[in-house]
Amino acid sequence: MSGIMQGKRGLIMGVANNHSIAWGISKALHAQGAELAFTFQGEALGRRVKPLAAEVNSDFVLPCDVEDLASVDATFSAIKERWGGLDFVVHAIGFSDKNELKGLYADTTRENFSRTMVISCFSFTEIAKRAAELMGEDGAMLTLTYGGSVRVIPNYNVMGVAKAALESSVRYLAADYGPKGIRVNAISAGPVRTLAGAGISDARAIYSWNQKNSPLRRTATIEDIGGSALYLLSDLSRGVTGEIHYVDAGYNITSLPNLDRLRN
Ligand code: NAD
Repeated sequence: MSGIMQGKRGLIMGVANNHSIAWGISKALHAQGAELAFTFQGEALGRRVKPLAAEVNSDFVLPCDVEDLASVDATFSAIKERWGGLDFVVHAIGFSDKNELKGLYADTTRENFSRTMVISCFSFTEIAKRAAELMGEDGAMLTLTYGGSVRVIPNYNVMGVAKAALESSVRYLAADYGPKGIRVNAISAGPVRTLAGAGISDARAIYSWNQKNSPLRRTATIEDIGGSALYLLSDLSRGVTGEIHYVDAGYNITSLPNLDRLRN
């Protein structure tokens, strides 16, 4: 197979099923010739991820729970042993207690704040450090964020705070690894119907609001996000690092909602 990712090898972290954003990204990378490895969290998801990996000709599928640093280390040891190096990594991992993805942000507990930050934010830093050790010049890293980091979205609460920290991490990591030629970027995706997305209270209403009020009058699909990820992970974006790139059908530029709807 030929394509702009021909000869590149990358690790995809965060496929849960065929609705996952990471799966949309995987399909786009595979179509352009990338060789992929996958991680999964827990055996139940492993049973879903292995057949998906096979669809993109990968049998390199590893367990990894980012709350367990030993499993993160084991993942990168396995990559080093089998591939010797790494060209790109995708971090599409997020978690918070769904009981706190509703109601007031002020009611967030200390325990869930810490857990949300470790899984949804700090894991990217731990992964970036290990990935960078395996990357040469032109390495690329990508994480996924959401506009609830910079504006208040009902019920997004502590995830918004974690995503703000994640976006800041992207800039610091880009500065850390830029001198090695390694780029670090994020995609800020609009709402997508995924397992993680369903954990947010009123997710359907937020999704439908975005559909009606985005400039493109729809939400971004996992294929849309895959296309933008392909750009950010390929040599096409060699001059781009530390960027938060919105793939949200333009929703982030809006202030007043669609006036046609207010008039009717
Ligand atoms: P998803 O449920 O398909 O993926 C979330 C992934 O996080 C799962 O694969 C899950 O196993 C993984 N994960 C959670 N805790 C983990 C842990 N301790 N160790 C390892 N993996 C763990 O949902 P998604 O929407 O595709 O989410 C991917 C990323 O995109 C997340 O960072 C999410 O916040 C972000 N995002 C989602 C949306 C949306 O509307 N769905 C919008 C913008 C950004």
